[in-house]
Amino acid sequence: MTEQAPDKPVDFIRQIIAQDLQSGKHKQVITRFPPEPNGFLHIGHAKSICLNFGIAGENDSVCHLRFDDTNPDKESTVYVQSIKEDVHWLGFDWGEHLYYASDYFDKLYEFALQLINMGKAYVCHLSSEEMRQHRGTLTEPGKESPYRNRSVAENLDLFERMKNGDFPEGTCALRAKIDMASPNIIMRDPVIYRIMHVSHHRTGDKWCIYPMYDFTHCLSDMLEGITHSLCTLEFENNRTLYDWVLDTLNTPCHPRQIEFARLNINFTVMSKRKLLQLVEENHVLGWDDPRMLTISGLKRRGFTPASIRNFCDIIGIGKRDSWIDMGVLEKTVRDDLNVTAPRVLGVLKPLKVVITNYPEDKEEELTALNHPQDPAMGTRSLPFCRELFVEQTDFMEDAPRKFFRLSVGREVRLRYAYLITCQEIIKDESGKVVELRCTYDPETRGGTAPDGRKVKGTIHWVSARHTLLAEVRLYDRLFTVEHPDMDKEKDFKEFINPDSLQVLQDCALEPSLSAAGKNERFQFERQGYFCLDSKDSRPDHPVFNRIVTLRDSWAKLTKKKK
Ligand code: ATP
Ligand code: MG
Repeated sequence: MTEQAPDKPVDFIRQIIAQDLQSGKHKQVITRFPPEPNGFLHIGHAKSICLNFGIAGENDSVCHLRFDDTNPDKESTVYVQSIKEDVHWLGFDWGEHLYYASDYFDKLYEFALQLINMGKAYVCHLSSEEMRQHRGTLTEPGKESPYRNRSVAENLDLFERMKNGDFPEGTCALRAKIDMASPNIIMRDPVIYRIMHVSHHRTGDKWCIYPMYDFTHCLSDMLEGITHSLCTLEFENNRTLYDWVLDTLNTPCHPRQIEFARLNINFTVMSKRKLLQLVEENHVLGWDDPRMLTISGLKRRGFTPASIRNFCDIIGIGKRDSWIDMGVLEKTVRDDLNVTAPRVLGVLKPLKVVITNYPEDKEEELTALNHPQDPAMGTRSLPFCRELFVEQTDFMEDAPRKFFRLSVGREVRLRYAYLITCQEIIKDESGKVVELRCTYDPETRGGTAPDGRKVKGTIHWVSARHTLLAEVRLYDRLFTVEHPDMDKEKDFKEFINPDSLQVLQDCALEPSLSAAGKNERFQFERQGYFCLDSKDSRPDHPVFNRIVTLRDSWAKLTKKKK
């Protein structure tokens, strides 16, 4: 990936790594991104991916992709596949360094035996409820399990029988023997192996005991020679256990765990568990619903990988949890597309216009700029004829003085075309305006009047005869409040925005868009940035997604409330 800009302050993790390289502590840095394959990746994961793979790219080092697949109950190969695709799509590559924690199950079992032999682990028959009661609180020490002091031989025998499937789930577990009075509750004899009679998507029915995260993670890092194990702040207390396992087993390599602040964005939920609920309860159309802040959702929505990487760069890496405004993410993609997306004309809610003094059988080609600020992007031609579509909102019957668009007697500029004046309106039986009769000034081709008269309003349009009819999907934020999952009384789903998806049929788009490719993004002038929907669009029924509006319509609302 790209090098960091030289003038940008280096974050605290990169500082530590630079020191470790300089002092010779490490010759090569090895990081890892360790997702659990129990859901699709979201924008929060992107932060971790950009950090881990970014560091590797900067130092000629490597970043491993490791599936932390120790809970077969919730995991599947569908998720493994999607995670791989998403990491690649973001622009990163793990090369040959693809690993699974499940590949280490044999070794982890051996390590567990070692702990038992050292008198540092025991099989405990307390139920999970009893364990909770024994654990104590922040102010009170825990109580020792009655099974804590059984002999090594007995523990070895029981652990083997656990492995052999002699016990039902929940009847016993292997616990590390540490300190029931530790001020750090995580150190009060944590469970390191549990029984689960569940087959695993990779190891099948070989195992019916599975190692817990805290035991698996540090040892997997160690086995892979990870130098810096970067994780989010909620694992700060787990670091003591991470170090305890490696120190106790006296492993040849001891990666350093460093915590950083997780990404939180307002107006959304971030945890996979909640995203899964939205999917399973059909509040959205799937993991890749363009309203979801999953990588696959953002991809389908039309975000570019570069804009997501830029976003992660902008928010930076810190040590304190904070909230990032959704507007920052939207602005990043807007800024990216503003430079790269060609401009086109598309009428989302069409109103017919007939140019009464334009000959019925005449057609002409007008020249339009693909990017007014970037001449290198060239021009294209727009067909013009007697019947056009304009936006319904560009017409008002009783227009106030400052309405510089269409109303009877008013003149506007059709972008790249002519000045037209509205002469008459046609209504249907219900009184709805269905057509405007206008005249054009043939002297104003290209949009300027030779007599220098000023016309303030410029509107977009599409030739009716040449229109590409399309479905257009407009998205808004999925939640109406800043912190949907922080209300103690209400479920986060009560804050779902009922207007987060608006589907428009028969939108009138300029004909050049019939050649749009799946990876192209466009600015529909005055309407925002759009791309084809990768899933639902067909040549005979094009479907466009709005990626983002041209301006942040939420900024005012959010500010007003504050
Ligand atoms: P979630 O809490 O959303 O369910 P998770 O932490 O359980 O996510 P994992 O698959 O375990 O998901 O995460 C893989 C890696 O991504 C971890 O190193 C984790 O710290 C990191 N990660 C997850 N969420 C975020 C976030 N919001 N910001 C930064 N990093 C994150
Ligand atoms: Mg996790």
